[in-house]
Amino acid sequence: MKKISSLLLILIFIFTGIAMAFDNELVVYSARKEHLIKELFEKYEREQGIKIKYTTGKAAVLLQRVLSEGANTNGDILLTVDAGNLWHAAQTDVLYPVNSQILKTNIPSHYRDPDNLWFGLSIRARTIVYNTDKVKKTDLSSYEDLADERWKSRLLLRTSKKVYNQSLVAMLIANEGEQKAKRIVNGWVDNFAAPPYSSDTKVLEAIAAGQGDVGIVNTYYYGRLLKKNPDLPLGIFWADQGDNGVHVNVSGAGVLKHSKNKDKAVKFLEWLSSRDAQKIFADANMEYPVNKEVEAHPYVRAWGDFKDSKINLVQAGRLQTNAIKIMDMAGYK
Ligand code: FE
Repeated sequence: MKKISSLLLILIFIFTGIAMAFDNELVVYSARKEHLIKELFEKYEREQGIKIKYTTGKAAVLLQRVLSEGANTNGDILLTVDAGNLWHAAQTDVLYPVNSQILKTNIPSHYRDPDNLWFGLSIRARTIVYNTDKVKKTDLSSYEDLADERWKSRLLLRTSKKVYNQSLVAMLIANEGEQKAKRIVNGWVDNFAAPPYSSDTKVLEAIAAGQGDVGIVNTYYYGRLLKKNPDLPLGIFWADQGDNGVHVNVSGAGVLKHSKNKDKAVKFLEWLSSRDAQKIFADANMEYPVNKEVEAHPYVRAWGDFKDSKINLVQAGRLQTNAIKIMDMAGYK
Protein backbone atom coordinates (compact mmCIF):
# COMPACT_ATOMS: atom_id res chain seq x y z
CA MET A 1 0.00 0.00 0.00
CA LYS A 2 2.82 2.34 0.94
CA LYS A 3 4.60 1.54 -2.34
CA ILE A 4 1.48 2.31 -4.36
CA SER A 5 0.87 5.62 -2.64
CA SER A 6 4.47 6.76 -3.13
CA LEU A 7 4.26 5.75 -6.79
CA LEU A 8 1.07 7.77 -7.04
CA LEU A 9 2.81 10.70 -5.43
CA ILE A 10 5.65 10.50 -7.95
CA LEU A 11 3.18 10.35 -10.80
CA ILE A 12 1.33 13.38 -9.44
CA PHE A 13 4.64 15.25 -9.27
CA ILE A 14 5.47 14.34 -12.85
CA PHE A 15 2.08 15.35 -14.20
CA THR A 16 1.91 18.65 -12.35
CA GLY A 17 5.47 19.27 -13.56
CA ILE A 18 4.39 18.73 -17.15
CA ALA A 19 1.27 20.84 -16.66
CA MET A 20 3.32 23.65 -15.15
CA ALA A 21 5.86 23.51 -17.96
CA PHE A 22 3.04 23.67 -20.47
CA ASP A 23 1.46 26.48 -18.53
CA ASN A 24 4.59 28.60 -18.55
CA GLU A 25 5.42 28.23 -22.16
CA LEU A 26 4.55 29.90 -25.44
CA VAL A 27 5.20 28.47 -28.88
CA VAL A 28 6.05 30.86 -31.71
CA TYR A 29 6.05 29.86 -35.38
CA SER A 30 8.54 32.31 -36.82
CA ALA A 31 9.39 33.23 -40.40
CA ARG A 32 11.88 35.63 -38.89
CA LYS A 33 15.21 33.85 -38.64
CA GLU A 34 16.59 32.53 -35.36
CA HIS A 35 19.46 35.00 -35.02
CA LEU A 36 16.95 37.88 -35.22
CA ILE A 37 14.68 36.66 -32.41
CA LYS A 38 16.79 34.55 -30.06
CA GLU A 39 18.18 37.35 -27.86
CA LEU A 40 14.78 38.96 -27.52
CA PHE A 41 12.96 35.74 -26.63
CA GLU A 42 15.60 34.88 -24.04
CA LYS A 43 15.17 38.30 -22.47
CA TYR A 44 11.44 37.64 -22.09
CA GLU A 45 12.15 34.24 -20.58
CA ARG A 46 14.51 35.79 -18.03
CA GLU A 47 12.21 38.66 -17.11
CA GLN A 48 8.81 36.96 -17.20
CA GLY A 49 9.68 33.35 -16.45
CA ILE A 50 7.81 32.17 -19.52
CA LYS A 51 9.63 29.82 -21.84
CA ILE A 52 9.41 30.90 -25.47
CA LYS A 53 9.77 27.93 -27.76
CA TYR A 54 10.04 28.61 -31.46
CA THR A 55 10.17 26.93 -34.83
CA THR A 56 11.55 28.89 -37.76
CA GLY A 57 10.74 28.34 -41.41
CA LYS A 58 9.50 29.96 -44.59
CA ALA A 59 6.29 32.00 -44.20
CA ALA A 60 4.21 29.84 -46.55
CA VAL A 61 5.43 26.58 -44.96
CA LEU A 62 4.60 27.78 -41.44
CA LEU A 63 1.14 28.93 -42.49
CA GLN A 64 0.55 25.54 -44.13
CA ARG A 65 1.62 23.86 -40.92
CA VAL A 66 -0.77 25.95 -38.83
CA LEU A 67 -3.58 25.10 -41.24
CA SER A 68 -2.91 21.38 -41.21
CA GLU A 69 -2.54 21.24 -37.42
CA GLY A 70 -5.87 22.99 -36.99
CA ALA A 71 -7.29 22.74 -33.47
CA ASN A 72 -4.47 20.37 -32.45
CA THR A 73 -1.74 22.96 -32.85
CA ASN A 74 0.71 23.67 -30.04
CA GLY A 75 1.43 27.03 -31.63
CA ASP A 76 0.39 30.27 -29.95
CA ILE A 77 1.81 32.99 -32.20
CA LEU A 78 2.60 33.33 -35.89
CA LEU A 79 5.47 35.74 -36.52
CA THR A 80 6.19 36.54 -40.14
CA VAL A 81 7.45 39.18 -42.55
CA ASP A 82 5.56 41.30 -45.03
CA ALA A 83 1.98 42.51 -44.75
CA GLY A 84 1.17 40.36 -47.79
CA ASN A 85 1.96 37.24 -45.75
CA LEU A 86 0.18 38.51 -42.63
CA TRP A 87 -2.88 39.26 -44.73
CA HIS A 88 -2.82 35.71 -46.12
CA ALA A 89 -2.73 34.30 -42.61
CA ALA A 90 -5.72 36.47 -41.69
CA GLN A 91 -7.58 35.38 -44.83
CA THR A 92 -7.09 31.69 -44.07
CA ASP A 93 -8.75 32.27 -40.69
CA VAL A 94 -5.91 31.05 -38.48
CA LEU A 95 -5.60 34.25 -36.44
CA TYR A 96 -7.48 35.45 -33.38
CA PRO A 97 -8.65 39.07 -33.06
CA VAL A 98 -6.82 40.84 -30.24
CA ASN A 99 -8.34 43.89 -28.64
CA SER A 100 -5.45 45.49 -26.80
CA GLN A 101 -5.14 49.15 -25.90
CA ILE A 102 -1.41 48.67 -25.42
CA LEU A 103 -0.95 47.40 -28.98
CA LYS A 104 -3.15 50.22 -30.31
CA THR A 105 -1.09 52.82 -28.46
CA ASN A 106 2.31 51.39 -29.37
CA ILE A 107 1.64 50.65 -33.04
CA PRO A 108 0.44 53.32 -35.51
CA SER A 109 -2.84 52.24 -37.12
CA HIS A 110 -1.54 51.88 -40.70
CA TYR A 111 0.90 49.23 -39.46
CA ARG A 112 -1.74 46.90 -38.03
CA ASP A 113 -4.76 45.03 -39.32
CA PRO A 114 -8.04 47.01 -39.13
CA ASP A 115 -9.65 43.81 -37.72
CA ASN A 116 -6.88 43.38 -35.11
CA LEU A 117 -5.74 40.02 -36.49
CA TRP A 118 -2.10 41.04 -36.96
CA PHE A 119 0.25 43.73 -35.72
CA GLY A 120 3.38 45.19 -37.31
CA LEU A 121 6.40 44.93 -35.02
CA SER A 122 9.19 46.40 -37.14
CA ILE A 123 9.20 48.63 -40.19
CA ARG A 124 11.22 47.97 -43.30
CA ALA A 125 11.55 50.69 -45.93
CA ARG A 126 11.70 49.65 -49.60
CA THR A 127 13.25 52.54 -51.44
CA ILE A 128 15.60 53.61 -54.23
CA VAL A 129 19.32 52.77 -54.19
CA TYR A 130 21.79 54.16 -56.69
CA ASN A 131 25.38 54.03 -57.84
CA THR A 132 26.96 57.15 -56.35
CA ASP A 133 29.57 57.33 -59.14
CA LYS A 134 26.93 57.42 -61.85
CA VAL A 135 23.85 59.06 -60.40
CA LYS A 136 23.34 62.30 -58.51
CA LYS A 137 20.80 62.49 -55.72
CA THR A 138 19.11 65.36 -57.58
CA ASP A 139 18.45 63.01 -60.54
CA LEU A 140 16.13 60.94 -58.34
CA SER A 141 12.58 61.56 -57.14
CA SER A 142 10.01 58.75 -57.14
CA TYR A 143 9.19 55.12 -57.97
CA GLU A 144 7.21 56.51 -60.88
CA ASP A 145 10.20 58.45 -62.21
CA LEU A 146 12.16 55.18 -62.61
CA ALA A 147 9.66 54.36 -65.38
CA ASP A 148 10.84 57.39 -67.39
CA GLU A 149 12.92 56.65 -70.48
CA ARG A 150 15.84 58.58 -68.96
CA TRP A 151 16.44 55.36 -67.02
CA LYS A 152 16.46 53.10 -70.10
CA SER A 153 18.84 50.13 -69.54
CA ARG A 154 19.75 51.49 -66.10
CA LEU A 155 17.20 49.93 -63.69
CA LEU A 156 17.73 46.69 -61.74
CA LEU A 157 15.01 44.97 -59.70
CA ARG A 158 14.49 41.77 -57.78
CA THR A 159 12.06 39.15 -59.13
CA SER A 160 8.32 39.88 -59.07
CA LYS A 161 7.86 36.46 -57.39
CA LYS A 162 9.06 37.95 -54.11
CA VAL A 163 6.23 39.15 -51.90
CA TYR A 164 8.20 42.36 -51.16
CA ASN A 165 7.69 43.50 -54.78
CA GLN A 166 4.10 42.27 -54.87
CA SER A 167 3.42 44.45 -51.82
CA LEU A 168 5.30 47.39 -53.36
CA VAL A 169 3.15 47.25 -56.51
CA ALA A 170 -0.03 46.64 -54.49
CA MET A 171 0.69 49.78 -52.48
CA LEU A 172 1.44 51.66 -55.74
CA ILE A 173 -2.06 50.66 -56.88
CA ALA A 174 -3.47 51.87 -53.54
CA ASN A 175 -1.62 55.18 -53.82
CA GLU A 176 -1.81 55.92 -57.54
CA GLY A 177 -4.66 53.84 -58.93
CA GLU A 178 -4.50 50.75 -61.12
CA GLN A 179 -3.94 52.49 -64.49
CA LYS A 180 -1.02 54.55 -63.27
CA ALA A 181 0.52 51.57 -61.45
CA LYS A 182 0.32 49.64 -64.72
CA ARG A 183 2.13 52.42 -66.60
CA ILE A 184 4.82 52.54 -63.92
CA VAL A 185 5.48 48.78 -63.94
CA ASN A 186 5.53 48.70 -67.77
CA GLY A 187 8.03 51.57 -67.73
CA TRP A 188 10.24 49.75 -65.20
CA VAL A 189 10.34 46.64 -67.39
CA ASP A 190 11.25 48.79 -70.43
CA ASN A 191 14.13 50.23 -68.41
CA PHE A 192 15.63 46.98 -67.13
CA ALA A 193 19.41 46.79 -67.50
CA ALA A 194 19.28 43.03 -66.81
CA PRO A 195 16.64 40.36 -66.03
CA PRO A 196 15.34 40.48 -62.42
CA TYR A 197 17.62 39.16 -59.68
CA SER A 198 16.77 36.57 -57.04
CA SER A 199 17.63 38.80 -54.05
CA ASP A 200 17.93 42.41 -52.95
CA THR A 201 21.59 41.84 -52.15
CA LYS A 202 22.28 40.73 -55.73
CA VAL A 203 20.57 43.90 -56.98
CA LEU A 204 22.82 45.99 -54.74
CA GLU A 205 25.98 44.13 -55.81
CA ALA A 206 25.08 44.53 -59.48
CA ILE A 207 24.51 48.27 -59.06
CA ALA A 208 27.82 48.61 -57.20
CA ALA A 209 29.50 46.68 -60.04
CA GLY A 210 28.05 49.08 -62.61
CA GLN A 211 25.63 46.64 -64.25
CA GLY A 212 22.85 49.15 -63.63
CA ASP A 213 22.54 52.57 -62.04
CA VAL A 214 19.43 52.38 -59.84
CA GLY A 215 17.25 49.83 -58.07
CA ILE A 216 14.67 49.34 -55.32
CA VAL A 217 15.56 47.37 -52.18
CA ASN A 218 14.78 47.04 -48.48
CA THR A 219 17.23 49.28 -46.68
CA TYR A 220 18.47 46.60 -44.23
CA TYR A 221 20.05 44.73 -47.17
CA TYR A 222 21.89 47.94 -48.02
CA GLY A 223 22.94 48.18 -44.36
CA ARG A 224 24.22 44.60 -44.24
CA LEU A 225 26.21 44.93 -47.45
CA LEU A 226 27.73 48.31 -46.54
CA LYS A 227 28.74 46.99 -43.14
CA LYS A 228 30.86 44.36 -44.91
CA ASN A 229 32.06 46.65 -47.73
CA PRO A 230 31.89 50.27 -46.56
CA ASP A 231 33.54 51.54 -49.74
CA LEU A 232 30.90 50.35 -52.19
CA PRO A 233 29.59 53.25 -54.35
CA LEU A 234 26.00 52.88 -53.16
CA GLY A 235 23.56 55.42 -51.78
CA ILE A 236 20.00 55.38 -50.43
CA PHE A 237 17.38 57.77 -51.74
CA TRP A 238 14.03 58.28 -50.01
CA ALA A 239 11.40 57.97 -52.75
CA ASP A 240 8.17 59.95 -53.13
CA GLN A 241 8.95 62.49 -50.41
CA GLY A 242 6.96 65.25 -52.08
CA ASP A 243 4.12 62.85 -52.62
CA ASN A 244 2.91 59.61 -51.01
CA GLY A 245 6.05 58.80 -49.03
CA VAL A 246 8.36 55.79 -49.03
CA HIS A 247 6.83 52.33 -49.41
CA VAL A 248 7.17 50.68 -46.03
CA ASN A 249 6.30 47.20 -44.93
CA VAL A 250 6.43 45.34 -41.63
CA SER A 251 7.42 42.18 -39.94
CA GLY A 252 4.59 41.35 -37.59
CA ALA A 253 2.63 38.78 -35.68
CA GLY A 254 -0.78 37.53 -34.65
CA VAL A 255 -2.17 35.16 -32.02
CA LEU A 256 -3.28 31.81 -33.41
CA LYS A 257 -6.99 31.08 -33.32
CA HIS A 258 -6.36 27.66 -31.75
CA SER A 259 -3.77 28.81 -29.21
CA LYS A 260 -4.43 27.39 -25.75
CA ASN A 261 -2.59 30.32 -24.13
CA LYS A 262 -4.26 33.35 -25.69
CA ASP A 263 -3.92 35.69 -22.69
CA LYS A 264 -0.23 34.94 -22.37
CA ALA A 265 0.24 35.26 -26.12
CA VAL A 266 -1.38 38.72 -26.10
CA LYS A 267 0.87 39.81 -23.21
CA PHE A 268 3.89 38.64 -25.19
CA LEU A 269 2.80 40.62 -28.27
CA GLU A 270 2.25 43.68 -26.07
CA TRP A 271 5.74 43.26 -24.70
CA LEU A 272 7.18 42.95 -28.23
CA SER A 273 5.66 46.36 -29.01
CA SER A 274 7.08 47.91 -25.82
CA ARG A 275 10.07 50.24 -25.58
CA ASP A 276 12.24 47.51 -24.09
CA ALA A 277 11.72 44.98 -26.83
CA GLN A 278 11.35 47.28 -29.82
CA LYS A 279 14.93 48.43 -29.72
CA ILE A 280 16.27 44.86 -29.88
CA PHE A 281 13.65 43.70 -32.37
CA ALA A 282 14.42 46.47 -34.89
CA ASP A 283 18.17 46.73 -34.36
CA ALA A 284 18.71 43.00 -34.93
CA ASN A 285 17.93 43.48 -38.63
CA MET A 286 18.70 47.20 -39.07
CA GLU A 287 14.98 47.93 -39.33
CA TYR A 288 12.88 50.72 -37.81
CA PRO A 289 10.96 50.31 -34.55
CA VAL A 290 7.21 50.44 -35.09
CA ASN A 291 6.81 52.14 -31.69
CA LYS A 292 7.46 55.84 -32.28
CA GLU A 293 8.80 56.28 -28.74
CA VAL A 294 11.85 54.28 -29.76
CA GLU A 295 14.63 55.53 -31.99
CA ALA A 296 16.27 53.46 -34.70
CA HIS A 297 19.90 52.40 -34.28
CA PRO A 298 22.35 55.30 -34.94
CA TYR A 299 23.69 53.37 -37.95
CA VAL A 300 20.20 53.31 -39.46
CA ARG A 301 19.41 56.89 -38.41
CA ALA A 302 22.47 58.04 -40.36
CA TRP A 303 20.55 57.26 -43.56
CA GLY A 304 18.29 60.20 -42.72
CA ASP A 305 14.64 60.70 -41.89
CA PHE A 306 11.88 59.98 -44.36
CA LYS A 307 8.16 60.34 -44.79
CA ASP A 308 6.41 56.97 -45.05
CA SER A 309 3.24 56.03 -46.92
CA LYS A 310 0.26 56.26 -44.56
CA ILE A 311 -2.13 53.90 -46.34
CA ASN A 312 -2.99 50.86 -44.22
CA LEU A 313 -0.77 47.91 -45.12
CA VAL A 314 -3.80 45.63 -45.34
CA GLN A 315 -3.94 46.91 -48.94
CA ALA A 316 -0.71 45.05 -49.69
CA GLY A 317 -2.75 41.87 -49.25
CA ARG A 318 -6.06 43.02 -50.66
CA LEU A 319 -4.44 44.24 -53.89
CA GLN A 320 -1.84 41.47 -54.17
CA THR A 321 -3.64 39.58 -56.95
CA ASN A 322 -4.00 42.78 -58.99
CA ALA A 323 -0.33 43.55 -58.45
CA ILE A 324 0.75 40.09 -59.66
CA LYS A 325 -1.47 40.47 -62.72
CA ILE A 326 0.05 43.84 -63.61
CA MET A 327 3.59 42.50 -63.25
CA ASP A 328 2.75 39.38 -65.30
CA MET A 329 1.21 41.41 -68.11
CA ALA A 330 4.23 43.72 -68.16
CA GLY A 331 6.54 40.72 -68.61
CA TYR A 332 8.19 41.38 -65.22
CA LYS A 333 9.51 37.94 -64.31
FE1 FE B 1 14.16 40.35 -46.19
